Amino acid sequence: MNKISIMDVSINNVTKAEAGEKIRNRLEKGGDGIFTIFTPNTEIVMLCNDDSELKRIINKGSMVLPDGIGLIYASRIKRLPLKERVTGFDTSVEILTIAAEKGYKVFLLGGAPGVAEKASANIRKKFGDIICGYQHGYFKGQHIGHADHQEERAIINRINDLKPDIVFVGLGSPKQEKWIDYHGNNLNANLVIGNGGTIDVLSGNVKRAPQFYQNLGLEWLYRLVSDPKRIKRQILLPVFMLKILFGPKDIVKSNN
Ligand code: UDP
Repeated sequence: MNKISIMDVSINNVTKAEAGEKIRNRLEKGGDGIFTIFTPNTEIVMLCNDDSELKRIINKGSMVLPDGIGLIYASRIKRLPLKERVTGFDTSVEILTIAAEKGYKVFLLGGAPGVAEKASANIRKKFGDIICGYQHGYFKGQHIGHADHQEERAIINRINDLKPDIVFVGLGSPKQEKWIDYHGNNLNANLVIGNGGTIDVLSGNVKRAPQFYQNLGLEWLYRLVSDPKRIKRQILLPVFMLKILFGPKDIVKSNN
């Protein structure tokens, strides 16, 4: 798969449909190790500037999808256009659709207590019996500085006993990427995706931006207005655009 690197974060240049096809193939045929999907948005690419471990982890993901409109603009400005925005949420829904069609099992990990349970109930209603288990994201584990804690070990054992094909990990960035890097290969599953607030949206607790905002590339604005606390992270967006506009030419480059 062709890759474009933005600020040294290497992103697959794929359409939603191509990403879906690749996922479908991998689930059908299996492969070595666990297939890891990361979905960095513009903020996460900026976080990678100051967090080389996060960057290293994302760069070795099996598939890295451009979840932020800023990444698409940056790639166009530098004339190495990414085909389209492919969000973690849409990719997760595609995975649920494939799971429903093929009978794969999904485990949900992440979100506040009660949220993954609510998301499971909604998924069951819409996609059928594809959820084999869920776990909230506030257990003692690697993501909050308790690596290999017994609570985390028990959770991993439970996940493996349930034999999911797919694990959703929604612990926010950079926790989810680091958790997947640390534990991915302990999971007896075919595919894992770090998908941020997807479980919150599936639970119905958080609304995704209406299509109107998405079409205009203004999902970030909708999120900011609905949750002004995000300003702390979203302040990175204009900084990102300035770096792209005035930074070195190879701030965006082709990885072929
Ligand atoms: N989350 C979690 N465990 C944690 C921290 C966060 O399960 O230790 C969940 C949180 O409940 C939310 C998701 O991760 O569902 C995204 O979290 P946050 O809003 O902090 O991340 P962001 O959306 O800013 O990346």
